[in-house]
Amino acid sequence: MPASMRVVTPPPGTDGAARAALPDANPPAPRAGPPAPHASACDTADHAGLVALNLVRQPVWIFDIDRQRVHWANVAALAVWQADSLQALCARDMGRDMSASVAARLAQYQADFVSHQATFNEQWTIYPAGKPVSLTVHYSGYPLPDGRMAMVCEARPVDAATPDSLRSVEALLHTPVMISLYSLDGTPLYRNPAARTAVRSHDERLAQRFASADACARLMHTLAVAGQATLTMPVHTAAGQRWHEVSASQRLDAATGDAAVLLSEVDVTPLKESEAHARYLSMHDPLTGLPNRSHIRQRFIDTALPLRGTPRQAALVLIDLDHFKDINDSLGHAAGDELLVEVGGRLRRSVRRSDLVARFGGDEFLILLQADDIRSEVHRIDQRIRSVVAQPVVVAGTQVHVSATVGVSLFPDDGDDFESLLQHADLAMYSAKAGGRNALAFYEAGMATSLRTRTGLETDLRVALDRRQFELHYQPRVCMDTGRIHGAEALVRWRHPLRGLVPPNDFIAVCESSGLIRELGRQVFDMAAHQQALWTSLGHGLKVSVNLSPREFDDDGLLADLRRTLDVTRCPPQALQMEVTESMLMGSDDRPLRTLQGMRELGLSIALDDFGTGYSNLAYLQRFPFSTLKIDRAFVQAAIGERPLAEAIVGLCHVLKLQAVAEGVETDEQRDWLRTLGVAEYQGFLFSRPLPVPQFEALLARVGSVGGTDRRR
Ligand code: C2E
Ligand code: CA
Ligand code: CA
Repeated sequence: MPASMRVVTPPPGTDGAARAALPDANPPAPRAGPPAPHASACDTADHAGLVALNLVRQPVWIFDIDRQRVHWANVAALAVWQADSLQALCARDMGRDMSASVAARLAQYQADFVSHQATFNEQWTIYPAGKPVSLTVHYSGYPLPDGRMAMVCEARPVDAATPDSLRSVEALLHTPVMISLYSLDGTPLYRNPAARTAVRSHDERLAQRFASADACARLMHTLAVAGQATLTMPVHTAAGQRWHEVSASQRLDAATGDAAVLLSEVDVTPLKESEAHARYLSMHDPLTGLPNRSHIRQRFIDTALPLRGTPRQAALVLIDLDHFKDINDSLGHAAGDELLVEVGGRLRRSVRRSDLVARFGGDEFLILLQADDIRSEVHRIDQRIRSVVAQPVVVAGTQVHVSATVGVSLFPDDGDDFESLLQHADLAMYSAKAGGRNALAFYEAGMATSLRTRTGLETDLRVALDRRQFELHYQPRVCMDTGRIHGAEALVRWRHPLRGLVPPNDFIAVCESSGLIRELGRQVFDMAAHQQALWTSLGHGLKVSVNLSPREFDDDGLLADLRRTLDVTRCPPQALQMEVTESMLMGSDDRPLRTLQGMRELGLSIALDDFGTGYSNLAYLQRFPFSTLKIDRAFVQAAIGERPLAEAIVGLCHVLKLQAVAEGVETDEQRDWLRTLGVAEYQGFLFSRPLPVPQFEALLARVGSVGGTDRRR
């Protein structure tokens, strides 16, 4: 409609507005339009049917919606529009000042005429000569001969329209709030333009609007009980499913006086979406997209707590990546993030759909699972986790290997609530770490105390390193044939001011897991090198071996540390041997090989320690530059029936030209057997325990060493 036409209703509280806005209860049949009025309008005025309308005192005109011009008007309408002639009125461009919303509404009317022969009653205010004229207008469709749909407007003056009533009709027609009235059985009675635009079809019944039967039932129930209800709910609209805040109230239909339901709806979809987004963010880890701590906690409350009293159990499986910090430090945070995303994805793919994997912050992940036989299920998942985590990951162009330490607590056995179970899984994880990482531990009572002890121990060890409370004892390596001392293994001891001499098994693991091992290793190598520099200068041709632990071996600074100490002490490197174990050599990259070669380049020789206890990978013997193989005590002390294995290993040493050294020889019989096999050297209590330097030197003096004076024979 032209911009000069305004729509108003009577003030709220009067029933005029509703009545004015109601569609006809019985819409008239579509008009059989008079023959072919031309698109450009007024020359059709002589058509008999239309001319007859000139006799009607009520203003009637036909509006061409597409062209936004009056197509035809009767005499009464010309007066209302203050036009001198029909031609003058038809020439007026009604679209010139028409607002977009009015144009959109007219297009909607046109569609409604076409689709279901709709008719409307509305109050309009037009401004034919700049002065408002309020009319109640009945609109209906009028098909033009060229097939387009025009609109017949039949006007009556509004009696007693107050400015407020005029404004409220205007508001009703222009508001984006969707207002509609339904009879109690759900038949639509009225919709304002916003509501008409929103519905999928004009005859849609009340219940069909709502996308959730549940929400609909709730709304209706509250409405019935309280007379009104407001609910944010999903609604079907012409634009798809949206979220509307729906307010319903019981009213009387102003036209019939029957009970009716008045709905007003506001589209709150954007709000709802941002709410959902915020909720998603609050429940997920932004880096990996996995559920976060609050999420898994909620899931625990929802799904695990109800298991109490049933045979089913739940488990919290806490997974900590080993040495993640090293990767972060050496390759950068972006690489660390990449690794976490990759590992997170692998973990998620390795569990059942019913299990939940969450990222717990840092390098920790948490899995919540349920099963009847929970321990076997945890072991099964643990296997899967280990195998997926062990696959190399390429981050920042570098292939890295990760392993994981896993701590587990069970519900309801290990705690009543999420927080205490989590604490217990954490304790279990720490105790698995203390036991050497890449392991799994179930929570056990008493772990808390041992952890406290451990933490205390760590503090003590720091002090001990500061005060240099460590010393080396030397266990002789004896020549089978001559009985002379060819060398010694340096074994560390802690001279504790109160506890006396503490053996390495009581503190090496804690040094490993806390990172203190690096400093301890430096002190050990430093002591051994000083000692050997001295013994060499005294003419003893001994070879002293020094133990390395996995974390020292992995340390990037190791080779530089060794070189510096050799330089400072002026110890001849051939006088020293490094003992490594198989576990340090695993992995698919060539780092271990490079480290060993670096040691060889420094002039140090290398012994493979504890052979036979671990993987006993024969390929390693060929691949890595060892000169010595230490046959583990377990083989030396094995029952007679198990000796063939040790014999095979010694045979292999001969083939590979490795020197075999037997460890833990306690009896003459063991020594004699090993001698017949061709083992060149041995260590063990049979000959001597590890000794402090003065006693070792005394023994040397008695027994003699290679290159030293043989005082015995
Ligand atoms: P290992 O390298 O296998 O050292 C041999 C262990 O066997 C020593 O225990 C030694 O005292 C013990 N032993 C020697 N002969 C016999 C015997 O005839 N019978 C029995 N039953 N045992 C014997 P120790 O000194 O308590 O050291 C234990 C472990 O601590 C070592 O095992 C080694 O893995 C580690 N360790 C010792 N010193 C160091 C060190 O300086 N650095 C590192 N990283 N680890 C060390
Ligand atoms: Ca050793
Ligand atoms: Ca050993």
